[in-house]
Amino acid sequence: MTTGFIGAAEATGTRRVRIVIVGGGFSGIGMAIRLRQRGIDDFVILERATDVGGTWRDNSYPGCACDVQSTLYSFSFAPNPEWSRVFSPQPEIWAYLRRCVVQHDLAKHFVFGEDVRGAAWNDDTQQWTVTTTASQWRASILVLANGPLSDPVLPTMPGLDAFTGHVFHSARWDHAYDLRGKRVAVIGTGASAIQFVPKLQPLVSHLSLFQRTPPWIMPRHDKAIPAWRKAMYRAVPATQRATRAVLYAMREVMFLPFRHAAVARLAQHGALRHLRAQVSDPALRDALTPTYTLGCKRVLLSDDYYPAVTRPNVSVVTEAIASVRADGVVTADGHTHAVDAIIFGTGFRATDPPAAPFIFGRSGASLADTWRGSPSAYMGTTEADFPNLFFLLGPNTGLGHSSVMLMVEAQIEHVLGVLALMQQRDAGAIEPRADAQSRYVSWLHEQLAATVWNSGGCKSWYLDGTGRNSTLWPFTVTRFRKTVARPIVADYLLSPRRTTAVTGGSDV
Ligand code: NAP
Repeated sequence: MTTGFIGAAEATGTRRVRIVIVGGGFSGIGMAIRLRQRGIDDFVILERATDVGGTWRDNSYPGCACDVQSTLYSFSFAPNPEWSRVFSPQPEIWAYLRRCVVQHDLAKHFVFGEDVRGAAWNDDTQQWTVTTTASQWRASILVLANGPLSDPVLPTMPGLDAFTGHVFHSARWDHAYDLRGKRVAVIGTGASAIQFVPKLQPLVSHLSLFQRTPPWIMPRHDKAIPAWRKAMYRAVPATQRATRAVLYAMREVMFLPFRHAAVARLAQHGALRHLRAQVSDPALRDALTPTYTLGCKRVLLSDDYYPAVTRPNVSVVTEAIASVRADGVVTADGHTHAVDAIIFGTGFRATDPPAAPFIFGRSGASLADTWRGSPSAYMGTTEADFPNLFFLLGPNTGLGHSSVMLMVEAQIEHVLGVLALMQQRDAGAIEPRADAQSRYVSWLHEQLAATVWNSGGCKSWYLDGTGRNSTLWPFTVTRFRKTVARPIVADYLLSPRRTTAVTGGSDV
């Protein structure tokens, strides 16, 4: 399904366009806005769903909100003076993204209901052929903006198929299922679960909360943004930019514990005070006290999670799950926790992107073949042997301390810089030099070794199947911005435009 007028059709039915962006979430929309601001109009955004918004469309669980201040968790080039709260809820973030699409006239670029199933680079034509569930596209540039937190993980548990109750993942919340008065199992105590558990607890007759590892939780201090402040942001946009700058600077300081375990241990005192203030039962407190260094897993913010788990209708189950039966969850001690529904808050396939086996570069190898279980990229954005391919929020661009939208913006500027470089040099293809990429990746992993994510004594989704941290950036946002700001020409391999190359609706 397409809105229609972007992209020229070939006789074969394949459509040609200059740039294909995969994914219509935050990153894809940001890329599209900046392309249009640069006067580049010949692009499509392929979106597998029927609406825009990515993770902020899919995660509609009760209590879903962002744990980064909205003024910072938004685009600098699309400010929103109307945020209702410091940490705005998911419906507002999703509405913001939909508004960005309208205000920047992006609707005509969206092609909905097309799930990308493969992409292959053709070195003769200097084009990507992108195959979706519905059609085929040819493009000079491919931008993967499909997000690291898009595909939920449902763990394999013996007997799960035999469970006769209702099952769903927090990222695919079943709003049609009435949870009132039900006995519910929640599996997982990560960023998602700690947001929906307080909303679920008052509804259900009993909540069995299966906790494998307790998270570190800090106070959230969310509050409504008063009308006068919104009016001020509306009237004098520089005041909101100033607030953003202050938040940015405060968050940059919060990077310290991730590099310095001593600072992390100091911060633990604050988190433990929060736990003591909200949980009086010593046994429950013990169960909720992490044994790894703060920051090793994502630090969570909540003022209502601990109070919710102290309620009489909640049991925190720390015994490992052994299996699932028709009527409930069985733990290693042999006890069956009888439930009517199981809700998985078990996270996403962040280090194992489902599309990686189907994206083929110049030599014919796939991204999965190249990565061998451990994604890596030059500056988290480009990949040797995969010309004209860009990742937004690619390998090692995640953060523990600030807004990933700042990282996305920096990457978008890098992409625009590379496109400009191609134009200046009349290049048909560009990719990072393999030695430049491997130098960058080695340096990155040396730097990661000292971080709390790698050495804080926990196992998190930041580490991939090989044990490497392929998700996070080991410095401040400012350092990333400086690093990627302008493409280092010597690190890139530019190929002259081939005369045989088939161009898209317009030239690169
Ligand atoms: P997550 O952080 O990966 O947490 C998954 C939870 O499920 C963990 O408690 C994990 O335990 C548990 N788990 C996984 N497999 C299990 C199994 N087989 N048996 C028992 N327990 C199991 O997932 P998430 O909470 O969905 O959050 C993912 C990421 O999304 C976050 O880190 C964050 O980046 C993002 N997020 C952000 C916000 C926001 O406000 N900005 C909100 C929600 C999510 P272990 O800890 O023992 O592995």
